[in-house]
Amino acid sequence: MSDNNEAKKTYYISTPIYYPSDKLHIGHSYTTVAADCMARYKRLKGYDVMFLTGTDEHGLKIEKRAAAKGVTPQQYVDEIVAGIKDLWSIMDISYDKFIRTTDDYHVRGVQKIFKELYDRGEIYKGAYEGYYCTPCESFWTKTQLKEGGRCPDCGGETQLAKEECYFFRLSKYSQRLIDYYNEHPEFINPPARKNEMIANFLEKGLDDLCVSRSTFTWGIPVTFDEKHVVYVWVDALSNYITALGYGSDDTSLYDKFWPCDLHLVGKEIVRFHTIIWPAMLMALDLPLPKRVYGHGWLLLNGDKMSKSKGNVVDPVVLVDRYSSDAIRYFLLREVPFGSDGSFTPESLLNRINSDLANDLGNLVSRTVSMQLKYFGGSLPEAQNRLAAPLDDEIIDLFKGLKARVEEQFDELQFPLALAEIWKCVSRLNKYIDETAPWALAKTEEGIPRLAQVLYVLAEGIRIIGILLEPFMPNTPGRIFAQLGIAGNDAIISWQSAENWGLYPSSAVCVKGDPLFPRLDIEKELEALEAIKNAAAPKPAEPVKDNKQEGAKKDELPEGVITIDDFAKVSLKVAEVLTCERVEGSDKLLRLTVTNGEKEKQIVSGIAKFYAPEDLPGKKVILVDNLKPAKLKGIVSEGMLLAATCEGNLKLLTVDGDIPAGSSIS
Ligand SMILES: [Zn+2]
Repeated sequence: MSDNNEAKKTYYISTPIYYPSDKLHIGHSYTTVAADCMARYKRLKGYDVMFLTGTDEHGLKIEKRAAAKGVTPQQYVDEIVAGIKDLWSIMDISYDKFIRTTDDYHVRGVQKIFKELYDRGEIYKGAYEGYYCTPCESFWTKTQLKEGGRCPDCGGETQLAKEECYFFRLSKYSQRLIDYYNEHPEFINPPARKNEMIANFLEKGLDDLCVSRSTFTWGIPVTFDEKHVVYVWVDALSNYITALGYGSDDTSLYDKFWPCDLHLVGKEIVRFHTIIWPAMLMALDLPLPKRVYGHGWLLLNGDKMSKSKGNVVDPVVLVDRYSSDAIRYFLLREVPFGSDGSFTPESLLNRINSDLANDLGNLVSRTVSMQLKYFGGSLPEAQNRLAAPLDDEIIDLFKGLKARVEEQFDELQFPLALAEIWKCVSRLNKYIDETAPWALAKTEEGIPRLAQVLYVLAEGIRIIGILLEPFMPNTPGRIFAQLGIAGNDAIISWQSAENWGLYPSSAVCVKGDPLFPRLDIEKELEALEAIKNAAAPKPAEPVKDNKQEGAKKDELPEGVITIDDFAKVSLKVAEVLTCERVEGSDKLLRLTVTNGEKEKQIVSGIAKFYAPEDLPGKKVILVDNLKPAKLKGIVSEGMLLAATCEGNLKLLTVDGDIPAGSSIS
């Protein structure tokens, strides 16, 4: 199909709306970057795109957090939403609309939808009884509870509670949904999730769903029953149509874009989007979204990232340090779409160095340098260039590249699309080695061949630059500027990537900064660790603090600790076994000590005060239970106590003979 035929088509893609109870982490960024990449791709293909993201701002959790902070819920969410919008801005997220569930049009739309469902007999008033977990705002049945009656989600205590509420007749829809899935095999992706939904939920039969609450007020009021607010399902899920004006006077966007082409969601909320949401739409007699894609999680050390686990990585820090394009590239390349991927600082830094600095960055800088050095910036016309059979292989590879990338896009296989592009990057780097331009440059006869080699490189890079655009919105412009073709729309358009031979001999290339400077991985790891540690020791969340702990701490004057606080530090007498200088540092010594039980390696900043040979045999005081840290890339498994005064330093030691391992109190 040619792009022209598709030009008038529309494409509607959404991310989930995020719950602004805290700052977003790199896991949220992953979903949004993937959606952005797809939206950019469709725009480049000529589609009229609606890319929707936003925030889900109601509920008890937010009401409580706001109260704990002494602000109104609206003030509370306003502040967090501003931070989320800033994050999307620095990550180059090109959303067309940002919906907040506190927006007036959404509130009115939801009220209309709720009333309509009620009028159609799809919602009825009843009472809910179950085990309620307050932090999760969830009712559980007895069989769902974990040992000790605890919440299966958060592990917290639950209470038996009864609440009047409105129910949506979800139970009616089990069979209709199974039928729909079977008639529309493309509806749920990856397909394994479809079987999960059928086996785990639909075949067991659905229960009616509680869709209102009367125990908190931070929500959209039910118009015909003031005691109730609309609960998350109808409130949040409806955003996908209220954002288009559904339920308002102007439904032109709804008419244009609904049904949605793709709801991109994390796998943990596939159920809401493939059971509850379609059932609601069926109840309203509205068309269903064409496709729901449940992607895997970005894991950190094998664990799902979450604020409560304290393993979140702040994307703002990463973008500031390494650029939005580098972070986007990592996310889209590293996580197999549909299954889980993992984030570690090492994997990020290695990707940046190997793929971006080495492979792509070097290719561009070598090519531009040679074009400048050998031809003063512009390449000779075709008749003065000498082709060779080797070039045909390269040209064939590039001619099919756009189609191969698009094929992967259609299946949302971003990592595979990037892999196709990088195959070509690697091929060009190898082509430089094979053709050895520096050798060709040595003789007059070599020049026509040299011109052709550099032409193949420049033209290949042009195509690569075009195809990188959905993934890395800033890098292509920098590449085109260096190639001297920035602003030449005809040869940098998406469509033009399928044609070989468009790079003009009139283009004058320009030496630019390296696209991605090479990182010193050791140094970066240390810096990231330091940033994390600086951000880490925050006081406990105020919401959780209300219980017992708070009172005891409040009685102590600031700066005063209890004996229990002191007892947390395990101090041991240790004997120094060996000691040497740390290479490349005039401050650090590397020691091995014994704490009576085992040997430990300690890196200590005492090299200006002690010579390595002074220390073996000395008894020193070791902080034995300190979290290991890396100094100059060497792990230090503890800390030695020392006294300092006016630039002088003395290690603490014991007054008399006592064995290593003796504890200090
Ligand atoms: Zn819970």
